[in-house]
Amino acid sequence: GRTLPKPSQTRVLTVANQKGGVGKTTSAVNLAAALAQCGLQVLVLDVDPQGNASTALGVAHEDRTPGTYEVLVDGLRLSEAVRQCPDVRGLEVCPASIDLAGAEMELAQESDMVARVSLLKEALAGYVAEREQQGRPRLDYVLLDCPPSLGLITLNALVAAREVLIPIQCEYYALEGLNQLRANIGRVQASLNSELEISTLLLTMYDARTRLAREVADEVRRAFPSRVLDTTIPRSVRISEAPSHGETVMTYDPGNSGALSYLQAARELVESHQLRTEAATAHREAV
Ligand code: ADP
Ligand code: MG
Repeated sequence: GRTLPKPSQTRVLTVANQKGGVGKTTSAVNLAAALAQCGLQVLVLDVDPQGNASTALGVAHEDRTPGTYEVLVDGLRLSEAVRQCPDVRGLEVCPASIDLAGAEMELAQESDMVARVSLLKEALAGYVAEREQQGRPRLDYVLLDCPPSLGLITLNALVAAREVLIPIQCEYYALEGLNQLRANIGRVQASLNSELEISTLLLTMYDARTRLAREVADEVRRAFPSRVLDTTIPRSVRISEAPSHGETVMTYDPGNSGALSYLQAARELVESHQLRTEAATAHREAV
């Protein structure tokens, strides 16, 4: 089958946008499934108390299912919470239940500012080390599915990642929220995670027939030159149906235009990074 090259080190991407309903979860789970279908080792960390990513990946997340809350608040090892996605080899998920909503309050009790936003980063580092000790394959991609807010949970996700992936629904207010998100990411860069960058933007539910969608897309491409994937995700009923079957569209209807677009977007996510890394290496060698 198809394969994609492994990155030289684990890529950790936080999927974020303060707006709800723009396709964060849909993009996180379908890109993750597509990457795993291409032979990569992928982990999805569900950090949204809604647990939509856990549902879409077919992993239980009732109350008291050990998951992100226990990892953040009780110091549970990530390996104790991670589950294998039943439909896709090489894809695992750390589920979130509604308990996670309480984590904001719990984390606010911790007086050490840096410690309380570094919990997820530490947990992930521990899991990576544990896998290595056990001789298990290295994780290639970690995708964090964020809630639509910038609380302590999202901050933990931004500190744990090196890249931010922003799904954008091309509608009138899309750019307004984007400036706010950009400013917030700038603050995190300045104080907590200097390596963080907005590496990727993905246009979702895109309808090239509408003028507004085309205009917003052009504006986003101007605002983030070379960071917006050429691949856009069309609206597709099959994409929105898949979660109610506990599946991603990648297994629910692999031939569907939405599934093919996510596969193409995954390929681009891998290849654009490969090109950028090679360019950076060539630059270092030339200097
Ligand atoms: P977010 O995580 O940003 O809140 P979701 O990924 O949950 O957004 O998407 C919001 C809603 O839009 C969901 O009902 C989802 O099924 C639907 N949706 C997302 N992407 C598409 C798409 N490309 N085509 C059709 N429906 C979509
Ligand atoms: Mg969501």
